[in-house]
Amino acid sequence: MLSLVFLGTSSAKPTATRNTSSLALNLEKEWWLFDCGEGTQHQLQKSKGLALSKMSKIFITHMHADHMFGLIPLMASTFNGMGGQTEEGADTRVEEAQSTEPFEIYGPFGLREYIRKSLLLTYTQLGRMYTVHELHPGPIPSDRNEGQMHPCEVMGRDISIENGAWKAIHKDALYQVDASPILHSVFSLGFVITEAPTVGTIDKKSYEPALNRNKAQLAAQGVKNPMSLLGKLQKNEKITLPDGTVLEPPGLREGRKVVILGDTHDPSAIAPLSHGATVLVHEATNAYLPESDSAAQSMTREEHQEWTMSRGHSTPEMAGAFAASIGANALVMNHFSARYRADDPVMDDIKALAEQKIPGKVVICSKDLMTIEITKNNVVRVKEETK
Ligand SMILES: [Zn+2]
Ligand SMILES: [Zn+2]
Repeated sequence: MLSLVFLGTSSAKPTATRNTSSLALNLEKEWWLFDCGEGTQHQLQKSKGLALSKMSKIFITHMHADHMFGLIPLMASTFNGMGGQTEEGADTRVEEAQSTEPFEIYGPFGLREYIRKSLLLTYTQLGRMYTVHELHPGPIPSDRNEGQMHPCEVMGRDISIENGAWKAIHKDALYQVDASPILHSVFSLGFVITEAPTVGTIDKKSYEPALNRNKAQLAAQGVKNPMSLLGKLQKNEKITLPDGTVLEPPGLREGRKVVILGDTHDPSAIAPLSHGATVLVHEATNAYLPESDSAAQSMTREEHQEWTMSRGHSTPEMAGAFAASIGANALVMNHFSARYRADDPVMDDIKALAEQKIPGKVVICSKDLMTIEITKNNVVRVKEETK
């Protein structure tokens, strides 16, 4: 089961009910962090099922402080980095780190220098190597000076945009990550995580008669439990039984697609990569709710949307409309203005504003520490709290 764990859902600053932006994509054997606002470490301590030892990548959507002021402390804690010494050779951590695989961080240009300087100026040594891969919207400036490298740093890749996107910035046997620029008040990114096609559900009962028919011959070949052969189908391999019957695997199902956007007032550039998203995570900073919000009373709906966009942000209607335009199966909104408490009934009105743009689809207003499950059959639902 894939899941999204929302660690911070507030825009700009933490509030009593929401922390600043951060969310985890839990891939079961490992998990990836997207954005790391101030206090993300505290949220991780409160969350369930996200052991730091299993965090394997960090992605940063943009360089606004509310999305990354928690990054350096998280790196320091996770990689045993506090309390460095100035005396040469007094710290053995750097030596120990040399043999480790570098931890990978992806994000906008400037991120590498920010991490380098912050770690160096705070005497932070790490017990693990790290590397920063930067995404550039144009040619890499040749006169760039990123300063001195950190002793635990491995030089990362500088990835230039090609045809409006950064394709396969990460790819393994199970997942590919692509990215696109999206419009915001500063350079901002959206990430698309696509699962490789996998074998569909195996209906064991349908294979049983043929396996039972061959039971004796299979036993003679050393196969004590004929059902154990079904493991081959899971690997998308055929099985030829002693009597000549061929058991075919059920065919591949399309992988799930998770789209995680940074702050935006227009993400249309990522639409081609996002098509048919299983779940879209889209900000909805401001909502037009004149009945409960005095600030909105002096504006029309159109003026309110213009004002929201002028600050680089979206309304729930904009999030819903984009979700509909890419044929998303579910929309999860985050990055709410400090005006909206997580437990305020007004969140139902915000949800309804998005829903009217994407009728019949799953729409969720995220809350801190909420887990959203994405099943193999593309069902997107809030995980029930177990007490
Ligand atoms: Zn923000
Ligand atoms: Zn921002």
